[in-house]
Amino acid sequence: EAKNKGKNNYQFFTEEMNQLILRKSKLATDMRKGLEHNEFFVHYQPQMDISTEKIVGVEALVRWVHPELGPVSPAEFIPIAEDTGSIVFIGEFVLRQACLQNKAWQTAGLPHFRVAVNISSHQFSQCNLTETVCAALSAAELDAKYLELELTESIIQSSPLAVTTMQKLKLMGIHLSIDDFGTGYSSLRYLKLFPVNTLKIDQCFIRNVINDPKDAALVDTIVKMAENLELNVIAEGVETAEQFQFLKQKNCNQAQGYYFNRPLPPEEIERLYHPTSHLQTHA
Ligand code: C2E
Ligand code: MG
Ligand code: MG
Ligand code: MG
Repeated sequence: EAKNKGKNNYQFFTEEMNQLILRKSKLATDMRKGLEHNEFFVHYQPQMDISTEKIVGVEALVRWVHPELGPVSPAEFIPIAEDTGSIVFIGEFVLRQACLQNKAWQTAGLPHFRVAVNISSHQFSQCNLTETVCAALSAAELDAKYLELELTESIIQSSPLAVTTMQKLKLMGIHLSIDDFGTGYSSLRYLKLFPVNTLKIDQCFIRNVINDPKDAALVDTIVKMAENLELNVIAEGVETAEQFQFLKQKNCNQAQGYYFNRPLPPEEIERLYHPTSHLQTHA
């Protein structure tokens, strides 16, 4: 009987593995076509200044609604796009879109804020990254100071030209942040070497910050370290008032998370400033 059970488990497992592999390869092949067919779009999540509770930036987050499979999470398709190289096209799409959108908000009279774009390792190690960024800025006529690029510790660590590339971007006037800070393996020495403006504390430290004294101690330490290094610090994944109050008390600069807003389509960002505008159009 045990043998039978084992066999069934084995079959169940392979069937599940099969489905996963099929889905993965389907996503991989459909991605490029999806880009051409406008299945990809960008949502924007506000980043709040903790003391003023005003929006100081938005993070651009890519979305894909597959015609048969429905919405696919970036957590699922970004790693696939990295493997196939499609990330270069997706990344450039998001970058261009984010610059155009931010310029459109400025033109529409919204207060000026930065738009932060995630850069994957594949993109970062491309020799023409600075040219691509330049082209996106000039196509949108957006001032470089309104663009931020989010890099992860692993990207920075694995690229031999990281410092040079970052210095070029910094000289252009672009802000640089380290995403998911604290989850990579980078050494503290990098904080001295790399010209970054902002540390983004990963959401895994924020999740239990109220109940877990170790998380609380780590967040406190990262905030103090950022302050000492004169870096801006933003907490990701803030979901509750308690977490927000904790961060405020620790003098963390900024926060981003569902407590304030989910990632939103561009028109909803506008609505945050003109809450009655959609009522007027329907009146
Ligand atoms: P990330 O850059 O660390 O982005 C933050 C993720 O946390 C987003 O997930 C966001 O929707 C989610 N989030 C925000 N607030 C909260 C909260 O309060 N609680 C929880 N539980 N989650 C929150 P999303 O949009 O699914 O993206 C996942 C990851 O996919 C991103 O992590 C980023 O690494 C990658 N990604 C997304 N868009 C792009 C892109 O355009 N290019 C590249 N290269 N990567 C992207
Ligand atoms: Mg990010
Ligand atoms: Mg992050
Ligand atoms: Mg993340």
